[in-house]
Amino acid sequence: MARVATPDIRIPPDLLPADGRFGSGPSKVRPEAVAALAQAGGSLLGTSHRQAPVRELVARIRAGLAELFGLPEGWEVLLGNGGATSFWDAAVFGLVERRSQHLVFGEFSGKFAAVAAAAPHLDEPVVVEADPGTHPPLEAGAAGVDLYALTHNETSTGVMMTLRRPDGLDGLVAVDATSAAGGLRWDPAQVDVYYFAPQKCFASDGGLWLAACSPAAIERIERRRAARDRWTPPTLDLGIALDNSRQDQTYNTPALATLFLLAHQLRWMLDGGGLEFAAGRSERSAGIVYGWAEARAWATPFVTDPAQRSTVVATIDLDDAVPAATVSAVLRANGVVDTDSYRKLGRNQLRIALYPAIEPDDVEALTACIDHVVGHLQ
Ligand SMILES: *Cc1c(COP(=O)(O)O)cnc(C)c1O
Repeated sequence: MARVATPDIRIPPDLLPADGRFGSGPSKVRPEAVAALAQAGGSLLGTSHRQAPVRELVARIRAGLAELFGLPEGWEVLLGNGGATSFWDAAVFGLVERRSQHLVFGEFSGKFAAVAAAAPHLDEPVVVEADPGTHPPLEAGAAGVDLYALTHNETSTGVMMTLRRPDGLDGLVAVDATSAAGGLRWDPAQVDVYYFAPQKCFASDGGLWLAACSPAAIERIERRRAARDRWTPPTLDLGIALDNSRQDQTYNTPALATLFLLAHQLRWMLDGGGLEFAAGRSERSAGIVYGWAEARAWATPFVTDPAQRSTVVATIDLDDAVPAATVSAVLRANGVVDTDSYRKLGRNQLRIALYPAIEPDDVEALTACIDHVVGHLQ
């Protein structure tokens, strides 16, 4: 593709958001958390993850997540290195018995299905697919399916779904909540494994996975471990992750700054009023951005069903006459970054994160900036 020069459009400073980070992952880290990291860094960074200060930090994270999600008795929070992508690899070793079923409606849900399909020790997964911009209906669990894979928010397309245990399922419900956890509500009664990485709603850095696990999920991990019927790389062994998590550790060395920033964001959410507070901020931002798009002749929310329209990641289609890549490039030149659409989706689209850390006022300012840029493009 030929590169077109970015038009020289200066956005007036009074229109600019206070913070110009609107990326869907990694996403805005709150400046207060970065300042606290700089303060605490001297005594925490560069110290052993096997000693009390870091283990207490991990304990606060595990307890804080249980409180934020209102996890029932018997649930446990596991963690390990490698992000959500590594958790998919771990799941095909330590969570799926024989066969998984997947609702696929974008890049991330498709990747987990592909991992399951490629695992030589598993049966062919059942894949239910929908076009980008919507999610498939929650079909009943197919015969022989022992793990049903859902995605709370498909970050590549801006589609969210209500989590519910499928009819007729004799197995676990495992939910990729990477861009949803901490920004969308869910009911633990409908889920067994709610896993995510902390660089989205939790406004931290990447490289870590966390998984809230029901007693049935813990039992599955224990049973898979006891079966000893498949070789499992230790870094992907959920039994090893379970043992280490119970001691507030990870199997190998974690990024301490990631843990610190996650703990700080969790504290901020809990002090503010918990998941209601955090999800409410995202909903306020969503109301602003979708309302704005619907009031513009040249902008349309990509997701047509308002119930599936994500309140944590907004995707806005632009008219062909308004090149979204140019709008994003002009915004970037003015310090407002990462509004680009998901590259593989290939649409003339802006994608805007609405995570709890992002100020609704800044989302409002962003819409004014886009109006300014579009008004000066012709
Ligand atoms: C970002 C994202 C991932 C990938 O997370 P990593 O930490 O990079 O592995 C997976 N699933 C969803 C829904 C995501 O948004």
